[in-house]
Amino acid sequence: MKAEIIAVGTELLLGQIVNTNAQFLSQKLAGLGIDVYFQTVVGDNPERLQQAIEIGRSRADLLVFTGGLGPTQDDLTKDVLAGYLNRKLLIHEPSMAQIEQMFSSRGIHMVESNRRQALMIEGGEPLENTTGLAVGNGLSVDGTLYLLLPGPPREMKPMMDGAAEVWLRSVLGESEPLYSRLLKFAGIGESNLEAKLLDLIDGQVDPTIAPYAKEGEVAIRVSTKASSMLEADRKIDETVLKISERVGEFMYSQQDIPIEEAVIHLLRASGRKLASAESLSGGLLGELVTSVPGSSGEYVGGVITYTNHMKHQLLSIPLTQLEGEGAPGAISDTTAALMAERVRDICNADFGISLTGVAGPAESEGKPVGLVYMGLAERGKPTVVHTLNLSGGRNMIRLRAVKSAFYRLWLALQAR
Ligand code: ATP
Repeated sequence: MKAEIIAVGTELLLGQIVNTNAQFLSQKLAGLGIDVYFQTVVGDNPERLQQAIEIGRSRADLLVFTGGLGPTQDDLTKDVLAGYLNRKLLIHEPSMAQIEQMFSSRGIHMVESNRRQALMIEGGEPLENTTGLAVGNGLSVDGTLYLLLPGPPREMKPMMDGAAEVWLRSVLGESEPLYSRLLKFAGIGESNLEAKLLDLIDGQVDPTIAPYAKEGEVAIRVSTKASSMLEADRKIDETVLKISERVGEFMYSQQDIPIEEAVIHLLRASGRKLASAESLSGGLLGELVTSVPGSSGEYVGGVITYTNHMKHQLLSIPLTQLEGEGAPGAISDTTAALMAERVRDICNADFGISLTGVAGPAESEGKPVGLVYMGLAERGKPTVVHTLNLSGGRNMIRLRAVKSAFYRLWLALQAR
């Protein structure tokens, strides 16, 4: 099954919005075992949309459209496809009733064009929109499958995960369902991870192995078709074992959770508490860790000591350590160690972690952009400082520093 994604919208061509739907859909289709060979973007123009359909049909078995299902005249995906296939547009009555009900419950006058959102192409399957009004469509004509999804991501994603996936599975006549497991990695970049697994990825048949990178973390999805969950688990376990033999030290979970959540689980299991002192990350570490529900049991709190004055004032780090001739400086391993120890003691926590470094764009204290010291002070153990040399822009360096800090803490908790 070869698929092409056709994103419809002049805003995309003008660069006013980013085609995030294509990214989501490509990942989703890969997870369903469908190969995406092309992604096309076309404006709200009937002739060019028709050309895109013709070209798509010649090179793909499944065309996935996103956008152009709305009520206005420039929302023309259904009209153009119906014209191209020589099929009528029909009102899908349950969707029509839902639209009318929505307008009357809010006391808003419904204009005629809103009826367009309930249209479906003759012979197609209506796909329920649980978060919006425009009904989706799935249809199979002369050996080609057409899937029509709305443009707004908050409508498109639930439809794709819901009715559209059910429809696709039914038309593909899948005898066996697809099972997949997400392996999460930290402390290793995507390209490095891929390089270590290249032969496994290249030689994959079943289960399939697909790497993803997102927000400072890397994931691998292992998928297989099987007659039961038990059989799928057995096949996936075998592949996970092979992956673990190569890069097991970086794999922190076999569930889709961020590293900070894995850290919280380990702290909870060992009944220990964490505090943080942040400089270059400006509170990002605290933000991520407190995003984990229930983290107040494990994360005591922290300080943002951005300036030398605040490092001195709040953490009692001597000014002679931070500045002046011959001083190690704020960006140094010894300052990182002191920050971690002081915050641990002030907060009466078991672990103190600290981050101090250069996020850029310019160097600081004569130290290069990307140099970060992470202090890890565990009660009753010698303090450890990790030196990180991170790449990326300012915000990526800050995020990577925080994710690396969680990773080092995760390793320390594992070793216990
Ligand atoms: P509406 O009912 O809102 O008109 P629609 O299905 O007709 O929905 P469009 O009009 O094409 O969709 O797009 C509506 C909005 O959805 C866009 O302004 C944009 O914010 C978002 N959107 C559309 N296409 C994409 C895309 N490919 N990637 C990300 N966002 C998109």
